This record gives sequence, structure tokens and C-alpha cells, in this order.
Amino acid sequence: MTRSTQAIGIFGGTFDPVHYGHLRAALEAMEMLQLQDFRLLPAGTPPHRANTFASADHRLAMLKLALSRYPELQVDDREVRREGSSFMVETLGEIRREAGDVPILMMIGQDAANVLDQWHEWHRLFDLTHLVIMRRPESKHVYSSTLFEQMQRRLVNNPAQLQNSAAGLILPLEVTQLAISSTGIRRQIHAGLSPRFLLPDPVIDYIYEQGLYA
Ligand code: ATP
Repeated sequence: MTRSTQAIGIFGGTFDPVHYGHLRAALEAMEMLQLQDFRLLPAGTPPHRANTFASADHRLAMLKLALSRYPELQVDDREVRREGSSFMVETLGEIRREAGDVPILMMIGQDAANVLDQWHEWHRLFDLTHLVIMRRPESKHVYSSTLFEQMQRRLVNNPAQLQNSAAGLILPLEVTQLAISSTGIRRQIHAGLSPRFLLPDPVIDYIYEQGLYA
């Protein structure tokens, strides 16, 4: 197992399918946080969603196609390879064991941050990772009081602060806000409309070849 010596950025999602909203946010976060190790991590069987539309293998294949020309953005396929449901806290625990004491920065959108306290063992997340909350179109902070208290206590505004400790801080980060969602893309395809220019062409070709979301 390779041991990291530098901070690791993790951007988890269902990526059902991956689109330019994800990709642009990932690229900007990677650059602004000066991360050399930045991984998009597709959820295997997401515990917080009723189901996904495309299988984990298809979602992984689409992500790899989207990133094939951008090796600086890596794919971490551990959740897809793992059997059964995958909780982020377990995944992060595994990455932490591999990486040692380096800062881990988990990116999440504002919509995901709003319901963080519904995640499995969410308090433990802060022992394992920093949180980077990427602002998303029309998203608002709507935190429960427990979550709000955690947010206040851990909030920092300077990305450099995340380099001084391995975990436990929260940084809000403004990224270009593209009003694109996987839900919208699935609906368009289902309705026979073109999703062109919302996601990379090789991903669109794959979706049609495989008959996904039809
Ligand atoms: P769905 O519409 O199926 O809920 P989604 O488009 O929100 O999907 P996810 O795979 O659920 O995509 O999102 C993964 C992560 O990417 C989440 O943290 C989410 O907030 C963030 N994200 C999704 N869309 C965008 C976007 N347009 N800009 C920035 N971040 C985004």
C-alpha cells in the first residue's frame, strides 16, 4: 500500500450520470485548494438514496470516460468494488488508514451539507476529514441546530488552515455555479431530449450505447 505524504481531496457522489457541474466544481476545488491528489469517488450502493438509476459499474465507467483526458482528476473506485452498502464514514476510515496523518479534505455540495446529520455516524466524519462545502446554484444553508453548532465551531475561511491538521475543520468554498443536475439530465433523456453540452460527449455516447435512463 502506498502511503501519501500530501493532502488528499475526496469528492464523493452518485454521479448518475457525472456532468459538467461536478467536473467544473472538482477542478476549481482542486486548484483553489492546491491539491495534487484529488479523487472523485462514486458511491457503490448509496445508503441515503432509495436507489440509483444506472448500476455502479455504469456510473464508474461514465466517470472514467469523463476523466480520461484529465489525469489530474483521479477516480477512486473502492466503493464500487466493495460488496454491500457503503457508508462514507467507513470509506474515509479506510482512506485514513492508508494515508496516515495527512489532511483529508472531503468536498460536498451545499445541498449535501444541509443533511449531513442524516449520514451514518456523521459525528465521526470530523475525526477523519476536513469538510469543504462547495456552494451550489440556489442552495441555501438550512442546518438543524446540532449541525449548525458543529458548523460554527469548526468553520475556517482560509484554505491554508486545512493544511495544518489532518481533520475536523469546515471550509466554505465558492465554485462556479452551473445549474446542472443528474436528475435534470435523466429527465431530459427519458423525455427524448438531448443532454448535449451538459456533460462530456463520450459519456453521452456511452449512455445511448448502453440504453441508460431511457
Ligand atoms: P441528483 O440530481 O441525482 O441528486 P446530483 O447532480 O446532485 O445528482 P450527485 O452525484 O448526487 O449529483 O452529487 C455529488 C456531489 O456533487 C454532491 O456533493 C453535490 O452537491 C455536488 N453537485 C452536484 N451538482 C453540482 C453542480 N451543478 N455544481 C456543483 N456541485 C454539484
